[in-house]
Amino acid sequence: MNHEKYDLVIIGAGICGLTIGKLLTNSSVNFKIFEKSRAFGGRASTRRVNGQPIDHGAQYFTVTDLSFREFINEYIELGIVKLWSNKLNIWDGKSLMYESQTNPRYICPDGFTALSKEIAKVIPVSREVRITKANFNNKKWELLTDQNLEIEAEKVISTAPINQSLEIFSNYLREEELMQLQSVNFDPCISVILVYELANYIPWKGVFWNSGDTLSWVANDSSKRTNPTQTVIVAQCKPDFSRLNFKSEDEHVTNLVINELKQILPTWVQSPQETQVKRWKYSKANSTLDKPFFESENKKLIFTGDWCLESKIESAFLCAEILYPN
Ligand SMILES: Cc1cc2nc3c(=O)[nH]c(=O)nc-3n(C[C@H](O)[C@H](O)[C@H](O)COP(=O)(O)OP(=O)(O)OC[C@H]3O[C@@H](n4cnc5c(N)ncnc54)[C@H](O)[C@@H]3O)c2cc1C
Repeated sequence: MNHEKYDLVIIGAGICGLTIGKLLTNSSVNFKIFEKSRAFGGRASTRRVNGQPIDHGAQYFTVTDLSFREFINEYIELGIVKLWSNKLNIWDGKSLMYESQTNPRYICPDGFTALSKEIAKVIPVSREVRITKANFNNKKWELLTDQNLEIEAEKVISTAPINQSLEIFSNYLREEELMQLQSVNFDPCISVILVYELANYIPWKGVFWNSGDTLSWVANDSSKRTNPTQTVIVAQCKPDFSRLNFKSEDEHVTNLVINELKQILPTWVQSPQETQVKRWKYSKANSTLDKPFFESENKKLIFTGDWCLESKIESAFLCAEILYPN
């Protein structure tokens, strides 16, 4: 078994873990991020179909906080982040209208993974390494991974959705701490990707679906891309629908989604060239911790991530920023 030793181990290379990494790059802290997936970005992630990026998790982000604005400006200048829309649409079952208020939404033309990849350039990250077990011995953590690696760390910060963190660390928490953390709940979300010929034009960018029990959001994903070669729709399902259909056949879910979309799109919507279904077990937290992080009594373990404040990209950044102010 291989051994590695750090002052700090960060679990997760999503926006929160990577931001913590970025904020620590010029410090003396000897740290490393461990990420179970091959890709960076966690729930702000991208798939490629015929080379075209498609966001099947987070769809866009808003910027309200000044420090997040400064952080994002760097990536706007690099062309990695771009303003997508000032006003999106709402479908109420009868008409497709514009939102009443202006609210700038940002995206990455190359998909959200491009942002995480850029942040990760300056940070030590081991990908495809899942932390599976933790033991606290002699004031240090001993972490085990699925790659036969043993890691020693003074301190651990886990940015995974809290349910996943508790699978590893629940033995080291007091009863009342565990109860507090278990009160945070995530909704599931089924994302359906529909790919069409580029000739099939969609006159809107994104629609909040305020009608029926199936959909919550529909994106014209190709409107985010610089030179799209195909028209792509990403349709995301409501939490109850996603829960009910989590194990349903892809075809069944896709047909129900297309049936909804028929209300606002021409008949071509019924004949996609390609379809994919992504099931998010933990998509957004429907209740939060109401503080930016949880710290264990001995200060050797921290849980943080979007679920602490609000399930959005900006909050994932803010949790990191509050933990390690710039
Ligand atoms: C379907 C969907 C739609 C969304 N829409 C929007 C939106 O439109 N706008 C918006 O702002 N936000 C949206 N969000 C929320 C947004 O994606 C999150 O707020 C943000 O990405 C959370 O970042 P994070 O770093 O806190 O957590 P995560 O992105 O979940 O990162 C945690 C990381 O930890 C890794 N990990 C977990 N366990 C382990 C382990 N044992 N070992 C190693 N690594 C591990 C995971 O692989 C993951 O990469 C959406 C999310 C989903 C799923």
